[in-house]
Parts: sequence; structure tokens; C-alpha cells
Amino acid sequence: MKKIIFATTNQGKVREVKMMMEDFGVDFVTMKDAGIDIDIVEDGKTFEENAIIKAKTIMEATGEIALADDSGLEVDYLDGAPGIYSARFLGEDTPYDEKNKYIIEKLKDAKGKERSARFVCAMAVAFPNGEIETCRGTIEGLIGYEQKGKNGFGYDPIFYVPEYGCTTGEMAPELKNSISHRGKALEQMKEILKRKLDLN
Ligand code: IMP
Repeated sequence: MKKIIFATTNQGKVREVKMMMEDFGVDFVTMKDAGIDIDIVEDGKTFEENAIIKAKTIMEATGEIALADDSGLEVDYLDGAPGIYSARFLGEDTPYDEKNKYIIEKLKDAKGKERSARFVCAMAVAFPNGEIETCRGTIEGLIGYEQKGKNGFGYDPIFYVPEYGCTTGEMAPELKNSISHRGKALEQMKEILKRKLDLN
């Protein structure tokens, strides 16, 4: 069975992607499972560049196929911030409760559609022969007026999805995965992997 290493230490991403990779027919392991502890400098200018940096670094360190996710929240009222800086926004170790409250406060004068936002996820796979492929998924929503829900991670409690009348933090993991930026990116990535690895 082909082995793929997931180049992240973010446990929220690990939970979601592991769930979606069950039954895909590859040995899907996290950096932690593989005993890899590398601090990766994400100095790309786009989600795709950062995903490539992560996938390439882990592929080069292990000689195995590596998959990476670079994602974030774009708030239109804040000119797209925090965007690629979502994890580092207000400081890497600042609790999300504080980051979320800060964004709600910044949007105190924004009404209705002015609260538009999206989650973006770029995925990259790096193969030992040097080949790299990327894809991207997004989900549109609105910044809520308060934090809601204990599921998910990060900015999920403030990301309200009008079609479902709740935040991604209130969604069951299966529902979030079926409509999320990460779920959509991974569906495309699975097609890429099937083609490249000759899976059916
Ligand atoms: P990265 O590890 O540099 O890709 O940072 C991604 C960051 O974006 C996460 O740490 C979260 O702050 C945010 N983010 C990405 N995807 C999600 C999601 O599905 N829910 C909530 N926050 C997310």
C-alpha cells in the first residue's frame, strides 16, 4: 500500500482529513505518526505557495509522498485578513476565543452582506520524483455576531453558513467535511492521487 504523509501538526486538520481519507486505499500517516518534528517556515505569498513549501519539505525529509493543506479565513470587511496569516493572527499562541472576539468586534458596524467571508484551502502533494500538484477549495459564509458551536477548530465558531443556518462550529464533522473548503479541496486531491498512483 502506498504511503502518504500528511504535512501538518494542526490536530483540527488531522481529524478532518484522516476521516475523509479512510477507505481511500493508502497508508495515510500524520507527521506525528511518522515521528517527524520539523518546524516549517511558511514564507509563501499565497495559500498554494505555502502548501507547496510544506509538502516539499516533508517529502524531501522522508523520501515519501507528502500531502499538505494551507488554509485560512478571508474576511472581506478586513480586506481579506487574516488570510494566509490565519494561524499567526494576533500571535500563534493566542486562544481562538480571543481571535474570534477580536474579529467580531472589528465587524461591529458591518451589516448583512458586509460580513461576507470565506474559508480557503489549498492542498499540495509532492512526489519523490519532484512532481507537485495543487488544488483549492472554498466555502462562502458570513461572520457571525457571536461565537457558536464547539465542533471543528479555529475560526469555526464565527463562520456562519446561511444555507445551513448555523456555524461550521455547530455542524457535525460529516456535514462540515461534505461542504467545507477542505472537503472540496480533498475531493479534487483524491482524483489527482488516483490518477498518479494508479488507484481505482
Ligand atoms: P495553516 O496551518 O497555516 O494552514 O493555518 C490554517 C489556519 O486557518 C488554522 O490554524 C485556522 O486558524 C484557520 N482555519 C483553516 N481551516 C479552518 C477551518 O476549517 N475551521 C476553522 N479555522 C480554520
